[in-house]
This record gives sequence, C-alpha cells and structure tokens, in this order.
Amino acid sequence: MQITGHTRLGCLLGSPVAHSISPMMYNEAFRLLDMDYVYLCFDTKNVDLKSMTRSLREMNVFGFNLTMPDKERIMEYLDEISDAARMIGAVNTVKNEDGKLIGYNTDGIGYISSMRSNGYDFSGGEMCLLGAGGAASSIAVQAALSGVPALHILNRQNGRSYPNAVRLADQINAKTGCQADVTDLNDAGAVRAVLERSLLLTNATSVGMAPHTEGFPLPDPACLHPGLTVSDIIYNPRRTRLLEEAEKAGCRTSNGMYMLLYQGEAAFHIWTGQDMPIETIRSKFFQ
Ligand code: NAP
Repeated sequence: MQITGHTRLGCLLGSPVAHSISPMMYNEAFRLLDMDYVYLCFDTKNVDLKSMTRSLREMNVFGFNLTMPDKERIMEYLDEISDAARMIGAVNTVKNEDGKLIGYNTDGIGYISSMRSNGYDFSGGEMCLLGAGGAASSIAVQAALSGVPALHILNRQNGRSYPNAVRLADQINAKTGCQADVTDLNDAGAVRAVLERSLLLTNATSVGMAPHTEGFPLPDPACLHPGLTVSDIIYNPRRTRLLEEAEKAGCRTSNGMYMLLYQGEAAFHIWTGQDMPIETIRSKFFQ
C-alpha cells in the first residue's frame, strides 16, 4: 500500500482499540480494490470526543467507526443519524458526506447478514434474544426490520439493561411490524414458554465469554428443543457452553465470528459504495 498526497483517512475511535482487527480487515480490502484509503485506530481514553470529531471533519476523513465507550456519546456531535441507529440508541459507523457527518449502526446488520449467510430466514418464525445491552439493542432493531414476526427480549428484571429492554420493545412495536415483548430471564416458566414458540435463540449477553466459560445464560438447559437454531454472538470461546448444550439438545448452532466481518462489510459499503471482497477477508482474518 502506497500512501500518497491523495490518501483518504478513516479510523476507529474508542478505548481500548489496539486489539482490533478492523485495521487489518479494511486496509486489506482497500489494497485488494486498489483504493487510496487508509484506516487507523485512535484510543480516545484521554480525548475530548467533541473536538476529535471536529478535527476528523476538518481533516476530511472518509468516515470512522466507534467502539466502547463512544458509540452513544458520538450521537450529539453528528449532523444526521439513520432511523435504525436512533432506535438502537448508538452509532458504530460515521460517513463523511462532503463535510456532513452521518451516523449509522451496522452491528445488527452484521448479525443478520452472518445468519443469512448460514441460510437462516428471519421472517420464518419467532425469535428469543438474550440481553438488552449494546449488541442486543442493535440485533433487536435489525431483526425487527428484517421481518421477524415476534421478538421476545429476555433480560434479568433486576438487571441494569432491563429498562432498555422495555424501551426497545416499545420502539419496535411503535415503528416496525414486529411484535416485541420482554420476559424476565429469572422466570424459568416464562422463559420456557417463549422458547417453545421460537425458532431462533440468540445470546447477546456476555454470559459464557472467556474467562468465565462455565457461564450459561438460561435458567435450565432442558428448555432447549431440537426445533431451535441457537446462535451465540460471543466468539471467545468459539464454542460456548450454550452452544455445547444446544448441540446436545439437537439444535442447529452458530457462533459470533462472522458478525464482526459482516458489520465491517456493511460499513465498507456505506463509506465506499463498493462491496468488500468478503471471501478473501474471511479466509485471511476469520478462520
Ligand atoms: P453490554 O452492553 O454490557 O450488555 C451485556 C448484557 O449481558 C446485558 O443485557 C446484561 O444484562 C447481560 N448480562 C451480563 N451478565 C449477566 C448475567 N450474569 N446474567 C444474565 N445477563 C447478564 O455488552 P455488549 O456490548 O452488548 O456485549 C455483549 C456480548 O456480545 C459480549 O460478550 C461481547 O463480546 C459480544 N459482542 C460480540 C460481537 C460480535 O461481533 N460477535 C459484537 C458486539 C458484542 P443485565 O442488565 O442483567 O446486567
């Protein structure tokens, strides 16, 4: 890759960011498509996000991504925000359109695309979603916009995210054709009842993530049934205890590896209008 006087800059903001594979993914895509773009990471731990955003606009970046903890607080510094990102309440991708900064959220799109690439049809049946934090919010909104007829959001009633679960369900019911409700994750009978009606169970909690790999997000493994596809967005470990139990129960399973790839593909398309060479990127960085 040759940096020239015309090279356009894009970046990831957040903290920490040094572990991110986004620079490898995007820079390889730019190289493969012979595009004069470069993508870097900037840690925002000791940075004023408002002045950082102004500087990025003045430097005429093509766009940027946001990760924790900047996804929500960036919203007040943007000129426009997509309807989906507003419903989610967070932005992970910003496009600079001739000085106008427009915010999007591609996390949920990444999840939907990764499941569709596995042949899953969201309009085919009801869905249970574990969690109501940042990742769950983007998946809930995008699943509703992708034709899921009914969405059951499962969160601990005494948990920090429970009010957000209620807000999400209200937004989805008001703005999409999907019927959303909230179930207390501590109520084993209610959890069993919504799982029995559903074709897809998605874990978007952090339960089961390394190093606490013994974690299991449901009240009881016995509520898993063979008609369910079980998907866990955790990718460390690749096979969580939830996925192990789901396999034992005869469910189809899917892990979170490709959500990241497909959210990147969606951001790449927003910035450049071009398709990211996804198969090459997948085989190089996502095996
Ligand atoms: P977050 O905003 O902090 O939300 C965490 C969620 O987990 C909340 O709903 C929380 O519920 C729930 N939770 C935590 N501990 C729990 C417990 N002991 N029992 C039941 N629920 C519990 O985090 P996030 O950013 O959404 O990330 C969630 C997970 O998704 C992480 O493992 C992250 O690595 C993964 N992720 C994967 C991708 C990908 O590309 N594959 C992308 C983003 C995130 P309470 O309100 O009850 O605490």
